[in-house]
Amino acid sequence: MPSLQAQLNLACQSIQHAIGVGKVADYIPALARVPADKFGAAIVTVSGEKAFFGDAREPFSIQSISKVFAITAALNRFEQQIWERVGHEPSGNAFNSIVQLEKEHGIPRNPFINARALVVTDALLEGQTTTDCSNQMLELVQLLADDDTIAVDNEVAQSERDTSHRNAGLAHFMRSFGRIENSISDVLDVYCRQCAIAMSCEQLARSTLYLANNGTDPITETHIVNEERGRRINAMMMLCGHYDASGDFAHRVGLPGKSGVGGGIVVVVPDVAAVAVWAPRLNANGNSHAGTAALEALVRATKWNVL
Ligand code: GLU
Repeated sequence: MPSLQAQLNLACQSIQHAIGVGKVADYIPALARVPADKFGAAIVTVSGEKAFFGDAREPFSIQSISKVFAITAALNRFEQQIWERVGHEPSGNAFNSIVQLEKEHGIPRNPFINARALVVTDALLEGQTTTDCSNQMLELVQLLADDDTIAVDNEVAQSERDTSHRNAGLAHFMRSFGRIENSISDVLDVYCRQCAIAMSCEQLARSTLYLANNGTDPITETHIVNEERGRRINAMMMLCGHYDASGDFAHRVGLPGKSGVGGGIVVVVPDVAAVAVWAPRLNANGNSHAGTAALEALVRATKWNVL
C-alpha cells in the first residue's frame, strides 16, 4: 500500500493539466487579483498524520467554506430552532439565487446558499455587536484549526462589502418576510468578514477534522458538536456543499464537502481524515475545477467513501 503522501502526490500530479482550466471569481474584485494557477492540497488524518502537495501552506480566502463554521456555531447556540429559520433541502440553484425565496416565503433552502448564510449570520448577531460576532467566528476557526495565527483578510472583506449588492438584495428581500432581524448593514459586515477568513489547505483540513470524528477534535479531544449535529452538518455538505453542482460532486467524489469561490474545497472522510484542496480557477458552477479533479483522483486511489 503506497503511503498517504505518495497517494496524494500521484493524485495531484495526474490532474496538473486541469490547473489552467476555468476562471477565477472576479465579482469580488480582490479575489480577481489572486494568482490563478496556484494549486495546493493537504490531508490530515484523525490520528494526526499529514500529507501536503504544492501550495498547501499558503492562505487563501475560504469564502463559502466558512458556512460550515457558521452552521456549527449556530447549531451549538440555537440547537434545533435554527432549522425553523432555514431549511435543509438542496436548492438546485446558484449560490446567490433569489428565485426560490419568493415562493418559499423568505425561508432559504439550506445553510450553504448565501440567503441562508445571511439568516445564520443574523441569528448569530443576536445580542452582540458586529465586532464581537466577527471575533467569535474567528476564534471558533482558530480553535478548530488549533492555530491562532489565522486571520481575516481585511482587503478581501472590504472588497466584498463594497460590492455586496446581490447579498444586500437577498437580505432586504428576506427582511420583507420578517426573516432578518438585525440591520442589513450589520449582517453584511459580519458575513463579509466571515467569508474573508484566510486559511491554508493544511489549516482547513485540520479545522474540519471534528466532522470526521463524530464532532470531537481527535487530536486535542475538544468536544465541538455532538454526534447528531456532526452527522447533520456532514449530510448538508453531501447534499448542498457545491451549489447547483452538488449532485455532480457527489457523483465524482462521493464525500461530504464544501467549496468556496476562493477556489478551496474541503471534504470529510468519516473516521479517516479531512482533505482540503485549493486551485482558484472555477468551473461554470463556481467550484474549483482542478480541486474537484484532484479529489476525484484521490478518492479513486484511496477508495475513500462514506459507506
Ligand atoms: N462571499 C461570497 C458571496 O457571498 C461567498 C460565495 C461562495 O464562496 O460561494 O458571494
